[in-house]
Amino acid sequence: MNTAAPSLVKGVPPTVADVLERAVATGLLGPEQPVAGFLDTAGILRAVDALREAFAGVPQVLHTFAAKACPLVPVLRLLASTGMGCEVASPGELRLALAAGFEPGRIVLDSPVKTEAELREALELGVAVNADNLAEVERIARLRPAGCASVLGLRVNPQVGGGSIAATSTATEHSKFGVALRDPGAEERVVEAFARHPWLTRVHVHVGSQGCPLPLIAQGVAVAHRLAATIDARLGERRVTGLDIGGGLPVNFDDDEVRPTHAEYVAALREAEPALLDGRYRLVTEFGRSLLAKNGFLAARVEYVKDAGGRRVALTHAGGQVATRTVLLPDAWALRVTAHGPDGRPKNASAIKQDVAGPLCFAGDVVAHGRELPELAEGDWVVLHDAGAYCFTASWSYNSLPRPAVHGFRTGDDGRPVLTTVRTAQTIEEIARECGLDHADALLEVTDGAAG
Ligand SMILES: *Cc1c(COP(=O)(O)O)cnc(C)c1O
Repeated sequence: MNTAAPSLVKGVPPTVADVLERAVATGLLGPEQPVAGFLDTAGILRAVDALREAFAGVPQVLHTFAAKACPLVPVLRLLASTGMGCEVASPGELRLALAAGFEPGRIVLDSPVKTEAELREALELGVAVNADNLAEVERIARLRPAGCASVLGLRVNPQVGGGSIAATSTATEHSKFGVALRDPGAEERVVEAFARHPWLTRVHVHVGSQGCPLPLIAQGVAVAHRLAATIDARLGERRVTGLDIGGGLPVNFDDDEVRPTHAEYVAALREAEPALLDGRYRLVTEFGRSLLAKNGFLAARVEYVKDAGGRRVALTHAGGQVATRTVLLPDAWALRVTAHGPDGRPKNASAIKQDVAGPLCFAGDVVAHGRELPELAEGDWVVLHDAGAYCFTASWSYNSLPRPAVHGFRTGDDGRPVLTTVRTAQTIEEIARECGLDHADALLEVTDGAAG
């Protein structure tokens, strides 16, 4: 069921340059608005459609969106309007999901570190909860109110190994997530927990993400499926009703093509374990990156250019505050960069090797190293592509830089891009508050007291 306005998914999608030109012309970008994120509304809906289509033959599926990939209320509300659910991993994300309009029964709480109060709230609301470990299962047993509507599951780590990026590999031998299933006695302890607690009905696994090949992800899901069958066999009942198979589909950051696709993911699942898709277990998915990354870009103004040691460096407003992973792990998280003139149109100057650096005061704050790009000049714009997930919505407050504005775009009735504000830029006043402004005298008071 797609209840979003049909006009959002029709028409020729605007190009990045069209959107940039419009943003400059309307003052959303300019000398004093030097950086902003942009989200493709129709593109997001197309990604949701492709996900749905990939699972079309599977009897019972709830697709949830992993909120951390793009924790913006308007984005979550757009996704809620398509009938999706939402995966959250903190009280903040839960608050956003509720504000966006997701019914508690379509929300899944997955955090590895939940306080008692957080658990109590989720259980009272009827939000599904996946316990990270067996201690948490016992905590839930204590806190569960009578008549609790929450579907309750347990996360397991199938220990199938990691992909090419350690920091985004969840199913490694020593991973902090879930019950490490291959450890001696672990499977037995899991079966016993299900035996003890009749309300435990779901097995959760999330193998991912960026850098993990599809067969590895599918193998991890197949392990969870086998565990569910084992639990049912050992308890002599159909106890496990659902399998939450997580998200983690990697994204291609090299060009505009979507690959791998959700259809390829489903094919990999089918190959690893055909019974996974037969409808015996209700499936829950939790995709984030694969729905949003390619539907967003970041634009930043070139403030200065300089030469250093024979290399051209463009100093821009896009750095580690908005592209943290790219700056800290440049090889693993390289982003495509394009050069645009002051009006937003693609730049045609001849290409030279340049560093594209950011505004932070640390030397590694470079979003592209030695990249061949049309020669940049003051007042130009650089675009960081495929930045819709875990980028400008996961900002880092280094140097007290503001979280930038985010604008959604779509094709208007006249065929031109229409932009709408999704999030305003953080103000300097808000930054000061966040940095203890309300407690400005706090340490002076302590010093006075100590000095007596
Ligand atoms: C981050 C996360 C996801 C989403 O991962 P993507 O790579 O963005 O698809 C899903 N489930 C859990 C438990 C997560 O931590």
